[in-house]
Amino acid sequence: MTPVVTFPETYWNQRKLSRRERTALRDTAAYILQPEHGRGRAVCACGHLGKGSETVALILRKDGTAGTLGTLRCGSPWLCADCAPLKAQQRLERLQTLADALVASNGKMVSITITVSHGRESSLMNVKNAIETASRNARQGEPWNRQKKLHQVIGVLSAPEVTYSHTNGWHFHIHHAFLTENSGNPEALGSWFVQRYLRYLEKSGFTADIRSQEVSLIRDPRNYIRYLRKGVGRITNDVWNPQKDVTRQRKHLYPFDILQRASGSEVMKKLWREYATVMPGTRSCVITRSIAVRLNIRHDDDCVKVDHGCTAGYLPASIWAALVNRKKTNVILSLLEDQGVEAWQQINSLAHAFGAAKLVLSVELEDEQRQEQIPTSRFEHRPSAAQIAGLALHLKWHLSGKERNGEAIRVALDRERGHAVANGLAFFPPKIRDVLEIYGNDGVYPSASLPA
Ligand SMILES: [Zn+2]
Repeated sequence: MTPVVTFPETYWNQRKLSRRERTALRDTAAYILQPEHGRGRAVCACGHLGKGSETVALILRKDGTAGTLGTLRCGSPWLCADCAPLKAQQRLERLQTLADALVASNGKMVSITITVSHGRESSLMNVKNAIETASRNARQGEPWNRQKKLHQVIGVLSAPEVTYSHTNGWHFHIHHAFLTENSGNPEALGSWFVQRYLRYLEKSGFTADIRSQEVSLIRDPRNYIRYLRKGVGRITNDVWNPQKDVTRQRKHLYPFDILQRASGSEVMKKLWREYATVMPGTRSCVITRSIAVRLNIRHDDDCVKVDHGCTAGYLPASIWAALVNRKKTNVILSLLEDQGVEAWQQINSLAHAFGAAKLVLSVELEDEQRQEQIPTSRFEHRPSAAQIAGLALHLKWHLSGKERNGEAIRVALDRERGHAVANGLAFFPPKIRDVLEIYGNDGVYPSASLPA
């Protein structure tokens, strides 16, 4: 099969998820990975209070996104939708520095993608191990040392990536960049490497089609990385075909696509858990010491430069903790994004209302005056059963197969949930039994349950 080749770090540029959507995804990941006993994964604590912090600062960055200071950041590039985009940005910036330095010193670069044959039954752990081991072995020993000398190799970079397809299972692959001095021939080196890689793969009992491995000379490394940073899917010899990429991407789920589909789907939850056991700790785009020394750049710089932006105000730690527990942080941060720092008074009082020891919501139902002061309904999205059923009936015609009825309702619910998340609203789905009933009647209310 043909490898999917978009560059892993460009995912966030292509998807353009809002902060609200990313926070919601992070919370979903934390929910799925929550252990029954003991300490959980770092992503489970992301956004929570740091030990000993007494206040949380709410900030509004220059790009209009709201955030916090004084809360924990897990920094996981693999599991956390809130931290990963920043990590991806850092990796791409690192690559840009590298490409600039390579061009300045007249070096050459070839991009190599290696894969292995796999099916639905292959475990992610197995295919990952097979590829990593064969690639490492192919770059060891005397033969490799001779090639290194012959082509004046500066170094090798790796960017592992994984996608999933319902027909072929986990598609793990590594994008390598081989860097050589001007006198070297990186294309010839790449072909030699792929042959050796395939032999090692076979030795360990795996197979791969040579046509699924790719070697392409990057004529202008500087522009190549620039395109990647802009989020352009694929460039081979400076030619790319975005339309083809779109259809390919639809068939292949990226890890955070799996997470997005995980609510209500045991299959997707299981896939996410498998991914979460295997991928964390895998390093990507690491600039080794020897590359850094040769090209005179800093090696693997991982320090985080955070633009603190403008502080809107401070919330007591206890209030923030309650907001986290009640999943209301998104509402507060969204309000800050929509209304700006000038609205701090309003934001502050809403935060205190949501974070109060006794939830004000329940009081409001009895007290109409207070309800006017804090319009909570503005922060909720409650589509009716008829709305969901209507949408599902409409969607049904775009789906095929036996499962399309269930699928249509699921997609309709996901859409409405997506709308809620994108707008920072709490989502309250209607009773599924009601949806099914209306859906089964082709959108018509059964006479017994006609709405008043
Ligand atoms: Zn995080």
